[in-house]
This record gives sequence, C-alpha cells and structure tokens, in this order.
Amino acid sequence: MHYISTRGNTPKMPFSDVLLMGLAPDGGLMLPKSYPKIDDATLTKWRQLSLSKSGYQDLAFEIMQLFATDIPKADLKALIDKTYTRQNFAKDEITPVRTLSDGIKILELSNGPTLAFKDIAMQFLGNAFEYVLKQKNERLTIIGATSGDTGSAAEYALRGKDNIQVFMMSPHGKMSAFQRAQMYSLTDDNIHNIAIKGMFDDCQDIVKTLQQDADFKAKYSLGTVNSINWGRILAQIVYYFKGYFASTDNNQQKVSFCVPSGNFGNICAGHIAREMGLPIARLIVATNENDVLHDFFTTGNYRPRSADKTYVTSSPSMDISKASNFERFIYLLLDKNPQQLSQLWTNVNNQQGFELSDLLDNIHNKFGFVSGKSTHADRIATIKSVFETDKDLIDPHTADGVKVARNLRQDGELIVVTETALPAKFADTIVEAVGKIDIPRPDATKGIEDLPQKVVVLDNDAKLVKAEIEKFVEPK
Ligand SMILES: *Cc1c(COP(=O)(O)O)cnc(C)c1O
Repeated sequence: MHYISTRGNTPKMPFSDVLLMGLAPDGGLMLPKSYPKIDDATLTKWRQLSLSKSGYQDLAFEIMQLFATDIPKADLKALIDKTYTRQNFAKDEITPVRTLSDGIKILELSNGPTLAFKDIAMQFLGNAFEYVLKQKNERLTIIGATSGDTGSAAEYALRGKDNIQVFMMSPHGKMSAFQRAQMYSLTDDNIHNIAIKGMFDDCQDIVKTLQQDADFKAKYSLGTVNSINWGRILAQIVYYFKGYFASTDNNQQKVSFCVPSGNFGNICAGHIAREMGLPIARLIVATNENDVLHDFFTTGNYRPRSADKTYVTSSPSMDISKASNFERFIYLLLDKNPQQLSQLWTNVNNQQGFELSDLLDNIHNKFGFVSGKSTHADRIATIKSVFETDKDLIDPHTADGVKVARNLRQDGELIVVTETALPAKFADTIVEAVGKIDIPRPDATKGIEDLPQKVVVLDNDAKLVKAEIEKFVEPK
C-alpha cells in the first residue's frame, strides 16, 4: 500500500515513511490511495477472532497489516502484542463495551496509562517509532506543547524508548495537580518537562518557532506527534471494529457511533472503518460549545475560528476551533480532487473557511455523518442523570457524547458512545455534577501527586528552550 497527500503534490510513500511525518511537504495530510474493502466473509472471520482472549491484538493485526504493508508481519505482530497488554490497558478486552440502562452503549477507550483514549494510538506509536527509527538508523527529538492530555499521552508512550528524546512544554501553573503529577513525576532520562511562564498558546508558538528554524530542526532531528499523524488514525480504526463486534451478534446489524470530537481524529478513524465496509449506520459528531464541526455538519459551512475565539469549557480536550484531521474526510467528499481541496484550505488559512452546502445530502446519506452540540449545563445534567440511574460515572467529554446520542437517537437505533477519558481526570466537574464523592481511580495513579517531580521552569522565550535541547541532544 502506498500513501499520497490530500493536496496531490507529494511523491507516494510507504507506511514506515509516513509514520514519522507530520504534515506532508505540500501542506496536506497523508492517506492511502484508497481504503481496503472488507467483505462479509472476512467480517465474520474477524468477529470470531475478536471474541477470543487475544481478540483485540488479533483484530489489530488483521486490520493494521492491510495498511502497514512494508513492515514484516512478524514484526508488526510483535509491536501490537507489546502495546496492547492487560498491564497497559487494565483489561484483557483492551476496549470493553458496557451498556447504560437506556440502551446506549459505552465503548471504553480510556483504560490506558493516562486515562484518555489517546493512549490507544500513542502507545502503539511509541513502539512503532522506536522500531522504525532502529530500522532506518535514525533518531528523533519530539517537541510538543500541551495543556494536559496530549502531552502526558505522548510522554507515557515514548518514555524509555531508544533514540527518542521528548521535550514537552506546558503552561506553568495552569494545569490541574493531577495533570502536573502525571507528567512531571516521570523520571525517565529521555523525558524533559518544561514549564513555560505563559499560556498554552505561548508554548505552541515556541514549538512553531523551533519547527520553522530549518537549521536547528535538521541539526537536532526535531519531530512532533500531533493528531494528524497517520499511525494514530490507523491504531484507532481497530476499536471501531472491536466495538461493533462486541455490540452485535451478526453482520446484518448496524451500529451508530457517537464521538466526542475536537480535532476530528477519533471520528476520522470511524469514517475509515465505515468506508472499509464495517456496518456503521451513522457517525455522530458531538461537540461542546466550540461547535465549528456541528455547524459544518448541519449547514455545510466550515468557519474555523482563531485561538482567541475558542471557548474554555469543562470538556477542555474538545476546545478546538480548527479540526486538523478534517481534511482527510473532505478529500473523499470531493471525490479525491486535490486541486479543489487545496483551494478550500487556502480559504481556511485566510480565515475565511468554505461552504459545501450542495454536498449536504452526500455528507448525511453517503457518508453517514450527523452532529449535535452539548453545553456545560448539558454535561453536568448528563453526568448526574447517568450517575443516578446507573451508578455509573462518566467524564465530561463522554457526557457530551451521551447527551448528543440521547438527543439524536432514532427508533431502534443502536448507538455506541466512545468513552474518551475517565472521570478521575476531571474531579472538579464531577463534583459539580454529583456532589462530593470518592471518584474511583486506577491503582497505578493513586498517590501520584505525592511523587517527586522533574520539571524545569523557563521564561517564555524560544531561545531558552533551544538551549535546553542543546544540553541533552548531540548536534548532527
Ligand atoms: C483528544 C480528546 C478528544 C477529541 O478527540 P479528537 O480526535 O481530537 O476529535 C475528546 N475527548 C478527550 C478526553 C480527548 O482527550
């Protein structure tokens, strides 16, 4: 399988080259020329596989080997088996499904080390990066900015990996005690926490400044692990299949997935699973107050907002007003027309956005996308109602999903909501919803606030961050 760019101006590449990339050189996103199609007999075979004790790993191998064709099968299998363990994800099924009393199902994606769904892809990426770097005899210096979730998922995925150093910037004093403890308590030599005296946007600006310094970038082998990385999307396709098989008895049944969304990475994987032939009825995009995607899926108008017009909400990992993975879907919607796509993204970069209202029928019917929106009050009410009726605690992001699923559910429709984080990460909002209670915490995170922390605090200045990198990485 070869990969191409949505913008049409990047030579085709094999999987292992795409794995280490962020944006394509032409500014687009990499994807396979076409998605493989799965027939009914294969689905039946995979359904059987997915029920066994090593069901998740076996299914992951079947799916990923269709895309990672330049990695020897035995090596790919070893990477998958090393990643998806009970030790990493607390449960043998890796992503079990539970059912609420109103029939809505919850696909558990957040039992990994940082208690958010990003672990599922990041843990694989960490192992895959290490493998590919060794093959190519290369090294990588990952730089990133985080306000919490992404940075910790990246650090837990890359800690202790050979030939990889991680420099993660976070806003000094702006994260919760739990989030700080999660990141700063890592003592691995290759993990470097940098607290910047500034805001999250300042951290992000420093990453951009370093990335744009071509000399420095080449000399220190800088790279990133953001949500547009193809390897992350690929790893996420697996749990749509797993969730489907766990929720149905036969391939005639259809399932809709409702996905709390921000950068459109999670639901993009669902879209690809549907394109591959998984019997998904609808893909329901759930947004919070930052509703640019909801606007698009209801009107066909895409109007990304700037960072200063992004609301700070109680489902913070969805506080995004420009969906970085969206382009992979729009490319298909436009019948794979890179010229037209490039034109649309020129408008996005000019702060104008675009309108595709004449394609709404295809968006809804051919591709199955619909959307809904949830606000702080909805989130609180949903957490409370699920707690009261089911004695089940859901996190604020998952609550956005449940609220939208309840609103949009049609007669007889089976909806699976993806659980994108555990409530322990968002104690304040949980307490606001249900009062002061003991929020369950996985054993591995108990008492982490009391561990010693490793972090350097720097003024908001890219030069100081460069100096920090020079201290630990040999120049080329
Ligand atoms: C990242 C994240 C999301 C949004 O996922 P996207 O792939 O960006 O759409 C939702 N919920 C939680 C808890 C997250 O960490």
